[in-house]
Amino acid sequence: MWRAVIGCVLCVVVMSCGRQAPGPGESGAVQGDLKVAPDMVARRAQFVQQTLSADISQLSSGDRLALAHLVEAARAVDEIFRLQAYDGNPALAEKVAALKGPDAEAARDYYRIMYGPWDRLSDVREPFLGEVPRPPGASFYPADLSPGEFEAWVAAHPEDKEAFTSLFTVIRRDGDRLVAVPYSEAYRPLLERASAELRAAAGATDNASLKRFLELRADAFLVDDYYQSDVAWMDLDSAIEVVIGPYETYEDTLFGYKAAFEAFVCVAQPEDSARLAVYKSELPFLEGNLPIPDVHKNLERGSESPIRVADEVFTAGDSRAGVQTLAFNLPNDERVREAKGSKKVMLKNMMEAKYEAILRPVAERVLPVGAADRLDFDSYFHFILFHELAHGLGPGRLVIDGRSTEVRLELKELYSAIEEAKADVLGVYNLYALADRGVVPQAVVEPLPWTYTAGLFRGARFGTTEAHGLGVVLQTNFLLDKGALRVTEDGRFEPVVEGFREAVGELAGELLMVQALGSYDGSRALVERYGQLRPEMAQLLEELRSIPVDVDPVYPLQAVGS
Ligand code: ZN
Repeated sequence: MWRAVIGCVLCVVVMSCGRQAPGPGESGAVQGDLKVAPDMVARRAQFVQQTLSADISQLSSGDRLALAHLVEAARAVDEIFRLQAYDGNPALAEKVAALKGPDAEAARDYYRIMYGPWDRLSDVREPFLGEVPRPPGASFYPADLSPGEFEAWVAAHPEDKEAFTSLFTVIRRDGDRLVAVPYSEAYRPLLERASAELRAAAGATDNASLKRFLELRADAFLVDDYYQSDVAWMDLDSAIEVVIGPYETYEDTLFGYKAAFEAFVCVAQPEDSARLAVYKSELPFLEGNLPIPDVHKNLERGSESPIRVADEVFTAGDSRAGVQTLAFNLPNDERVREAKGSKKVMLKNMMEAKYEAILRPVAERVLPVGAADRLDFDSYFHFILFHELAHGLGPGRLVIDGRSTEVRLELKELYSAIEEAKADVLGVYNLYALADRGVVPQAVVEPLPWTYTAGLFRGARFGTTEAHGLGVVLQTNFLLDKGALRVTEDGRFEPVVEGFREAVGELAGELLMVQALGSYDGSRALVERYGQLRPEMAQLLEELRSIPVDVDPVYPLQAVGS
């Protein structure tokens, strides 16, 4: 579930911000028997194409060949996901290919991005092609299956429960029966293709840990047992960082049982991973340095999961559809997590693409004229890293009046907003602290007030009802009241460098203290005082509506080795 949790800065939050609703009377054109939404060009404009390149010059020739096979395996996985999302896709794709007229290209692009006829940017996933509503169970279940029918079947056939609720089966009708069909049968030809490509990649690489993972994953595709290959993935120590298989269950909005196929084919960024290892070794110092009394510090904290930095070479399936992820934390199998922990992978070239396509244009409109030049990608990259590291600092488990509890349980529905705001400001506080120690370069912290201010607006675009949106409004108002941010005469927001660091530290201290005390009332008071969107910010947010929501990645290396 980490991708949702990290929705915060790492943004999986989806809202249609950019697009105006179609006017009255615009009902869309019908071509053949396919109805096309009238606003395809505006929908398509929410995604801006960005080229994601990666440096593969350090790869051995064997690994380059392996990479080419992995891209091919990912293409097979992409086809499987298309069927999982909507089994009508093969037929629909032909109709979409035949569309004509001024909107045809936009409709084709949007269909490619959405992996089906339903808009992933709309809360209700409304159709933009045709008029059929999306079945909540996608095509993991019969389209007409109700939750009640599924539950009644399992209650009447308890021996079917395990197979029916399995991550790796689809549910089909067989006459008047319901049956669970394993993925290895349902998608056999595509899985055989993917499996063969993984074996070819295993034969090509000279890295033993990669070879082992790929061979085990190639087997897993044909027998639906991913445990051993998940364990091998945790042991992966290779210049190629690859994820391929059925992982997340978000696509199954009926029950959340079924795993969607996806692939991330990446190359590791050893320099960034090494920098990160240095930062992680500072975590005990950072915990001790928190702006709260020692008694509330969590000095016994155990070691955290490994974090790697990688560049995408190609992605496919679930991870390619709709809004692009900036990082993932896998595997999800609790048995593997208990035995081996889990691994976070931060996708650096995707961060860079979003920085260029979204954060820069946001900064151009939010910061005083000319100040957007002060933005810096490395500063933004560090801000995201330190946001993530900050989630692992500060109070977690609590004892209140002799009762064992957790911050999350005490802060209830306000927890996420408080925790996301904490991760933002504590991340900044920690960057300054490590710059003082000479661990983080000064060049990273100098642009930080500007990078951070633009980032507040990027986060607030998603609305203040959502945790990160509320968290950034709270930060903005606090800093305004402390004089660390000011609104210029022409309505722009400017950080006030003198006092910025101190105000950020003060807010970090306040948020950490409501967490340390498990104080719901304290959280409520902070949200009531600082959580209301003020007119100056609302005005600017309105102006950001025309900036794209996300990127449509182009991978020049997908033809690597061919
Ligand atoms: Zn976060």
